[in-house]
Amino acid sequence: MQTHILGYPRIGAKRELKFALEAYWSGDSSREELKQVSQSLMQKHWQEQIDNQLAFITVNDFSLYDHVLDHSQLLGVVPERFQDGSADAWDTYFRMARGRAPSGTPQRACEMTKWFDTNYHYLVPELSPDQEFCLQPDKLLAEIAAAKSLGHAIKPVLLGPLSYLWLAKPAKEPFDRLSLLPKLLATYALLLQQLADQGIEWVQIDEPVLVLELADPWLTALESAYQQLADAPVKLLLATYFGSLGTKLHRVIELPVAGLHLDTTRGGSEYLIAARQLPADRVLSLGIIDGRNIWKTDLQWQLEQLQPLQEQLGDRLWLSSSCSLLHVPVDLSQEHELDQELKSWLAFAQQKLAELNTLAQALNGQGDTALEDNRRALASRRSSGRIHRPAVQQRLESVNASLGVRSTPYVERARLQQEHLKLPLYPTTTIGSFPQTQDIRRARADHRAGKLPAGEYEYLMKHEIQSCIEAQERYGLDMLVHGEAERNDMVEYFSELLEGYAASRFGWVQSYGSRCVKPPIIYGDIHRPEPMTVAWSQFAQSLTSKPVKGMLTGPVTMLQWAFVRDDQPRATTCLQIALAIRDEVCDLEQAGITAIQIDEPAIREGLPLLRSAWDSYLDWATFAFRVSASGVQDRTQIHTHMCYSEFNDIMPAIAAMDADVITIETSRSNMTLLAAFADFKYPNEIGPGVYDIHSPNLPAVEQMVELMRLAAQRIPAERLWVNPDCGLKTRGWKEVSAALINMVAAAKILREDNSLSQSA
Ligand code: GLN
Ligand code: ZN
Repeated sequence: MQTHILGYPRIGAKRELKFALEAYWSGDSSREELKQVSQSLMQKHWQEQIDNQLAFITVNDFSLYDHVLDHSQLLGVVPERFQDGSADAWDTYFRMARGRAPSGTPQRACEMTKWFDTNYHYLVPELSPDQEFCLQPDKLLAEIAAAKSLGHAIKPVLLGPLSYLWLAKPAKEPFDRLSLLPKLLATYALLLQQLADQGIEWVQIDEPVLVLELADPWLTALESAYQQLADAPVKLLLATYFGSLGTKLHRVIELPVAGLHLDTTRGGSEYLIAARQLPADRVLSLGIIDGRNIWKTDLQWQLEQLQPLQEQLGDRLWLSSSCSLLHVPVDLSQEHELDQELKSWLAFAQQKLAELNTLAQALNGQGDTALEDNRRALASRRSSGRIHRPAVQQRLESVNASLGVRSTPYVERARLQQEHLKLPLYPTTTIGSFPQTQDIRRARADHRAGKLPAGEYEYLMKHEIQSCIEAQERYGLDMLVHGEAERNDMVEYFSELLEGYAASRFGWVQSYGSRCVKPPIIYGDIHRPEPMTVAWSQFAQSLTSKPVKGMLTGPVTMLQWAFVRDDQPRATTCLQIALAIRDEVCDLEQAGITAIQIDEPAIREGLPLLRSAWDSYLDWATFAFRVSASGVQDRTQIHTHMCYSEFNDIMPAIAAMDADVITIETSRSNMTLLAAFADFKYPNEIGPGVYDIHSPNLPAVEQMVELMRLAAQRIPAERLWVNPDCGLKTRGWKEVSAALINMVAAAKILREDNSLSQSA
């Protein structure tokens, strides 16, 4: 039984790559040092694959920043603005990635965007109609040479030509990217020849776009591309992942490649069809180990599924990870603080290699203790009292549509809220967080480490809240916030207070470049043992006669930015979270809080890959939001916040959330995105961000007034709010003060505008 993986995480179990990169960028270490770190990481990852008896070690999955950028470099695709000759290839690479490098002039970096439906971001290749490709294989060949020295079979991975073109964008004016295919294929042919010259037998060629809804020209191009590559002197393993091939399956099966890889964790039962229909000389690689989640594989169940296939296919059956393991953390064995029982249910990348090994052994008739351990862990997970909470289950069963509806329509609510809140026209507010100073961070860290007693910690945080409230009163803001000093992260904070969530210590996953995230793990039914934010909000409200917004993270974001349970639908988990947040919302209202913001920055990124699946996702996602928000009386104002600017295609869902106020990012797009809201006739209130908090520049009063005048052309003034476009936690107090003072001044001008036009 041959085993392999599609790729391994690069960042290192202790984020060695991150620290090495950042030291290199800041000039604190040399290129040689960075090279050493990356080489030793690669060696380590290869050795692990050998130790787990994988048939191949996978090469070229490592990257200093991003594998799509590596591929651009391999093909010689370097946008013109980086070709100034002042930097070598190494620093050109980093300038493309992040706009600057230790050598070479700073330049506008390449655009970065989400890699399919993951939280990994790739650098978008820029292509022009007369694009030339020029093979630069030195780095790849050097890696291959290093891997070969381990004396094990190696399998390089390449991004396929269709996926590369699909993921690219035109450098300037639009053109048909497929027109570049012939030239691109010629370059692939050269490359494959060079790999064959190195004695390579198998090459993994990734075509993840095959799981998307592809238009016909792309499918035709796919067929002709692989016809041409069929002459290459290596065997191609065509790898698809992140979904099923659907109606494309039969066409893909016909492609003249030596092997096909399918993602069985997301592809339904189509691997069974493939097993029957694949021509008799082809390999079928099954991605059975989930590369997107951290749960142990049910090896016994897999064994039962795979045995008949093994009989049918013999050594044409290979076993693998569903996709690259890039999307899971590296090594579970470092997690000394994780609850032992929960830990026994998990597998990170390294443990997933061992699972492959165990499964292969078992299929070869060598049952061992690992299989028994796996069986026991899965049994414990199925029956554990940590997971199942009858009270949560019962409550879930009683949920019906009416739980997601506020008792009165927005127009009526708005009137009651106005009577209650007495806000001026163009009310000013912020998105929630205020600068996270060194002092705050230190207090939190010390408290966490047990070095700062709870009482003192509380005192420091209250002091912080007090000065934040005083500052907002000085600026003259209308609706205040407590400032979020007690939170390091909007998801982590709540995940630590909710039961059913666990936090890892080193469970880092690469988001882009050196940036990693550490998603919490949702393992059980979600339960809120006690109020989470009420004391802080109540304290903040006691200091001022202005309304202070309660501040919560919404259910979809709490789900989206976590590793989720695989034993129930995402929608169910989301609804459990929604119920817990609903209770918090109601408790805040009880405690005298008159406006509550429920942030949902992740709604858009949760959209499924297939357009045809959008509606069902948006239905349950917006329902979960409404369940969290609609337990309050009419006069309590519900806000939400989203920090992106593409709303066009999800406008009905945004409206269906029925928040009284939504604050969004708009300043960078000059309010153009408000067109989506205006065209849709968005019925509720909107706070279009009037300045970009990501920039250190001080926004001028006039500039904000201008933007709001543009906004008022589309949305009636009575429904507009004035606010920055996101939270202020990454900025310093000096900048924040100056910006908010200007923002309040802008709102005053707008109000005068309005009363002038009223009296005219
Ligand atoms: N309330 C959060 C903050 O201000 C919102 C953050 C976000 O939009 N991602 O920091
Ligand atoms: Zn935001």
